[in-house]
Amino acid sequence: MQYKNTLEFAKKLDSEDQLASYRYQFHIPQDKQGNDWLYFTGNSLGLQPKKAKEYINVELQDWAEKGVEGHFDGENPWVTYPESLSKMMAKVVGAKPLEVIIMDTLTANLHFLMVSFYRPTKKRYKILIESDAFPSDRYAVQSQLKFHGFSEEDLIYWSPPKGKDLLEINDLENILEEQGHEIALVLIGGVNYYTGQRFDFKKIAELGHAKGCVVGIDLAHGAGNIQPDLHESGVDFAAWCTYKYLNSGPGSLSGIFVHEKHAHNTELPRFAGWWNHNKETRFNMRLPFDVMAGAEGWQLSNPPILAMAPIKASLEMFEEVGMDALREKSIKLTGFMEFLFQELGSDAVSIITPINPTERGCQLSIQVKNADKSLHQKLMDKHIITDWREPNVIRCAPAPMYNSFEDVYKMVSILKEILKDY
Ligand SMILES: *Cc1c(COP(=O)(O)O)cnc(C)c1O
Repeated sequence: MQYKNTLEFAKKLDSEDQLASYRYQFHIPQDKQGNDWLYFTGNSLGLQPKKAKEYINVELQDWAEKGVEGHFDGENPWVTYPESLSKMMAKVVGAKPLEVIIMDTLTANLHFLMVSFYRPTKKRYKILIESDAFPSDRYAVQSQLKFHGFSEEDLIYWSPPKGKDLLEINDLENILEEQGHEIALVLIGGVNYYTGQRFDFKKIAELGHAKGCVVGIDLAHGAGNIQPDLHESGVDFAAWCTYKYLNSGPGSLSGIFVHEKHAHNTELPRFAGWWNHNKETRFNMRLPFDVMAGAEGWQLSNPPILAMAPIKASLEMFEEVGMDALREKSIKLTGFMEFLFQELGSDAVSIITPINPTERGCQLSIQVKNADKSLHQKLMDKHIITDWREPNVIRCAPAPMYNSFEDVYKMVSILKEILKDY
């Protein structure tokens, strides 16, 4: 794609963009003069779909008018409410419907999944994660190690080569070659939250499985962003939240994936509740536990419908657009941002995210010289919403569902003005 560094060119790309109208299905925060903020933190909290409120209200109404009868007799009966959502979610992450369910929250789900997929023995008990994993994931695996009587020393880090920011697959290969026989679980953040680097799950699954390790992916920064093809990749399990690229509201629920190869393995240890018991006999109440097949076999509680309503509002858009079209726009949009950054010709900022679109999602991580955090504040003062991550990165995520090429152009133009003083 040949880009040009002009506002007219950005506007032309917007006029040719088949997905441009989706922006108007979101509430975009505005400044006092009524100008839209330039919002690039969909990787942290996606914007609110306008339909979210309507969909929550439908359920509030059913609850008000029907009470408990809403479970079977509502406009969208609550007992089956999650099923249509899981189907749409499965398409977003490239999975079979059997493999995906929406439940609980991300870190809690990592623990529930590790109940089944981190089964340490005396000889094989270590866990491997990426060196700069999201803190919640690191804390989660450290606590699992301790819970099973091991120590933080048994956590192995896949680190970048000295002086570099990005991870290299051959380093992972070497670790597995040397210590693979002691590693029980490889748990990798599918797209790293800090650098924006996207990993090759299929390759990681192959390497891990070849050494007898279980392989899981935290897809928090991947769901609704990249096309992870979870089924095809062969990873054993994955989990993600729905409030980042999936725009489903602060602290919203999580998706989990359990590969079909584990769908009918009733021997796999797991925690149980009435909602992973066979739904045909669930309300017979006095039966012995009879686990459901597939990802539903990990669901413990009856689902929080009010929290699911915004997920429905969001997933319907993903269903309509399709990940192919969304990703196609995303590659163009982030490519445009990258081009404009390079045109700045400034040594105050540099991109650490991989240049190759297959190795990243929509996020670009901008390393700031001398870790000057005031640059981020100056952007915020102009209602350009990005985030600062210690030690020295500004993360910018143009979300293809609602960001425009004009947003990207304006953002970099304002940055250019700010950089004149540097
Ligand atoms: C956002 C994020 C989390 C947050 O977990 P919650 O349990 O939803 O608070 C965890 N891990 C990763 C990799 C994330 O990006």
